[in-house]
Amino acid sequence: MSSKTAPADDSQLDAIWQIMSKIPESICADVIQLLEDELVTTKADSTILEAFVNAANAVTALPCYKAIRAAATAPKHCVRCHDTFTEEKNDSDSCVIPHVFSECTGYGGAGGPGGAYYEAKCCGAILEEYDAGGCNWLNLATLGKCYKGYHTEDIEDVENDRSGGYNKVNIPRCEFEDGECVAHGYEEGEDPVFDC
Ligand SMILES: [Zn+2]
Ligand SMILES: [Zn+2]
Ligand SMILES: [Zn+2]
Repeated sequence: MSSKTAPADDSQLDAIWQIMSKIPESICADVIQLLEDELVTTKADSTILEAFVNAANAVTALPCYKAIRAAATAPKHCVRCHDTFTEEKNDSDSCVIPHVFSECTGYGGAGGPGGAYYEAKCCGAILEEYDAGGCNWLNLATLGKCYKGYHTEDIEDVENDRSGGYNKVNIPRCEFEDGECVAHGYEEGEDPVFDC
């Protein structure tokens, strides 16, 4: 069996873990800074850096490495907000859906006799306005978003989510036309979203 196809050796993989645990995650950025700031001044140092970048370059050519990068950067469709996302940039606050309000629900409220309030069509959250029609929102900042979490490709994830499940308002199911989802998602914005 050639050394290329022989199975990976556990003790060698352990040794790799040992070394990796001592290497800061930022090492590539740090090396770029060393070069940019022209801090590499001896042949001995530049030879070490050369070995490092050659090894890193060889890793990027490994089929298994290419496969995990391809998975991390492949565009996916979020079945909750209907945006495109990648796993690489999918964090706990990536998928953001604002509340959606309809016409004025009633008058009075915290703004006094001239105030108005609006009940969100999605979840019943109440938005209060100091003076009806004045766009002077009393609790917009504290109201938060209707949903904030990870993007997902998994319909069951959304179906089973009590706070961010399908509701036919701001979290509709996918609707396909010519293989593309055309479901209407709402962009998060500074102003409350009205959709009457
Ligand atoms: Zn809501
Ligand atoms: Zn999403
Ligand atoms: Zn969709």
